[in-house]
Amino acid sequence: MDEKKDSQGTRPGAQEKAADEARLKERISRIGKKILVLSGKGGVGKSTVAANLALSLAAAGKKVGLLDVDIHGPSIPVIMGLVGTRLDAVEGGIVPAKVGANLKVMSIGFLLQGEDDAVIWRGPLKYNAIKQFISEVEWGEIDYLIVDSPPGTGDEPLSVAQLLGEAQGAVIVTTPQRLAISDVRRCISFCRKLALPVIGVIENMSGFVCPFCGKRIDIFKSGGGEEMAGSMGVAFLGRVPIDVDIVEAGDAGTPYVEAFSESPAAQSFAGIVEGILRQVGDSEGNQSVASSRKGETTVKLAIPLADGSLSMHFGHAQEFALVEVDREKSEVLSMVTLSAPPHEPGLLPRYLHENGANVIIASGMGQRAQGLFSENGIEVVTGVAAGSPEEIAQQYLSGSLAAGDNICDH
Ligand code: ADP
Repeated sequence: MDEKKDSQGTRPGAQEKAADEARLKERISRIGKKILVLSGKGGVGKSTVAANLALSLAAAGKKVGLLDVDIHGPSIPVIMGLVGTRLDAVEGGIVPAKVGANLKVMSIGFLLQGEDDAVIWRGPLKYNAIKQFISEVEWGEIDYLIVDSPPGTGDEPLSVAQLLGEAQGAVIVTTPQRLAISDVRRCISFCRKLALPVIGVIENMSGFVCPFCGKRIDIFKSGGGEEMAGSMGVAFLGRVPIDVDIVEAGDAGTPYVEAFSESPAAQSFAGIVEGILRQVGDSEGNQSVASSRKGETTVKLAIPLADGSLSMHFGHAQEFALVEVDREKSEVLSMVTLSAPPHEPGLLPRYLHENGANVIIASGMGQRAQGLFSENGIEVVTGVAAGSPEEIAQQYLSGSLAAGDNICDH
């Protein structure tokens, strides 16, 4: 009675709304797994985690979108070195910024003129902005969308969760102090009310690893996040220590996990990413060894050693056994032992590649490191429990090498 209807009997605006909803649904249907990164409050490293999670997934060969809808503090453009990026628009919508071959980035920061712009926005405007960031952005077909959500448990993260529909879940970032725990509890209750699965909790800024002696100092205490995760019945994904390079890399727009891949914090990230992949059912921990390197007769295995047998983490290996095997004749052709190279970002995969290795056998390895090995043409077999290099080579040849879960000791 109060509003006129068009020829189909629908109210003007209702059609537009339906088209909007349809567009949103269509966009979302092309996104594989959606992961929200949440925190009880700002400044705990939520954006740092979101950015490094996206980078790690992209490095592992996944097609990834990173969406920053942290309206009041969009820091992704800075962390990713994308400040001043101008975005193109095509028929399908806004084209996100690209970082490398696999990562598309969209941030509310690209569209704000000044830092304080969004602060004055009222609720509906914020909701619509968040909505457009999903429905008007040309994400294309992607395996993962990582969403850096606004902190807290207010209307903004609620909008994000509702707009995304069914998501794989939320990763909650906290710091170790007991004071932060009540924020995380609220975050978990928030997810439960929304039926949003909690993938797990990350304790960031958890201790400081001395770059000189490697000793760990728990500046803000440690373990609060883990204790709380246990008591709330959610998974604990791991601790990331304080690392001054994270701040510097973040301020300089250098992707931290790439530039400092061998650092304790990057190794923690790698373990965390693996835990997340496992939780969302995308773990490649169980590999079929028999199918590896089809068509190649001679293969050189690299086996990380500590005290003469398989090291529980390749990053801590003292030596590497390089075992050349003939897969057709099922024979070990040669074996040499090399000392491990110095700990420098990206050096180990290159070093092993230069020494002719094409398969590395490890008990545990983070996703990021696996990506670096595959970039160097080295296949990774993880989850191997123990053994001398000779035993492992024989098991590899006989097809009885037990590659189980990736046992990452970080
Ligand atoms: P949030 O998104 O929760 O507000 P940010 O990711 O922007 O937090 O991080 C806040 C600040 O803390 C940034 O300067 C960032 O570089 C720094 N930071 C985050 N994690 C760490 C860490 N593990 N070690 C050192 N600095 C960190």
